Amino acid sequence: MDTLSKKQRSWNMSRIRSKDTKPERIVRASLHRMGFRFRLHRRDLPGSPDIVLPKWKAVVFVHGCFWHRHKGCKYAYTPKTRLRFWSRKFEENVARDTLCRARLRLLGWRCLVMWGCEVEKPARLCAKLSRFLPMTTAHVRPNPTTGRTRTAEA
Ligand SMILES: [Zn+2]
Repeated sequence: MDTLSKKQRSWNMSRIRSKDTKPERIVRASLHRMGFRFRLHRRDLPGSPDIVLPKWKAVVFVHGCFWHRHKGCKYAYTPKTRLRFWSRKFEENVARDTLCRARLRLLGWRCLVMWGCEVEKPARLCAKLSRFLPMTTAHVRPNPTTGRTRTAEA
């Protein structure tokens, strides 16, 4: 018999599931507000990037600081026990990430890594996304009266 309460079970599931994490949902919501269209987890691309913006030939990875080893980040600590196991695991993860980004670049894709800790700060998140993506027309809707975009008026 399943003795887990509903609450416990959903908590367990959220820990196990690697796709559609909370930081990922936050990044998606920001991109959406900025007016960008995107697709999710394209398995035909190296590393099946979390967010794919085909129009801009750009991908965004939302990486957990612990598993993907955010350099200098307090969340990227190393557990004190089973040191060899963790070191090897972390090395594999970082090597895989580096290889995936290299392969994507070879295919002509631009890559952005958003770290879990950056996503917690909305201003930092938006700033990083704006630097990465062309902000010319994606988020600018034509003025209903003049039919011109704000960029054209500026
Ligand atoms: Zn971090």
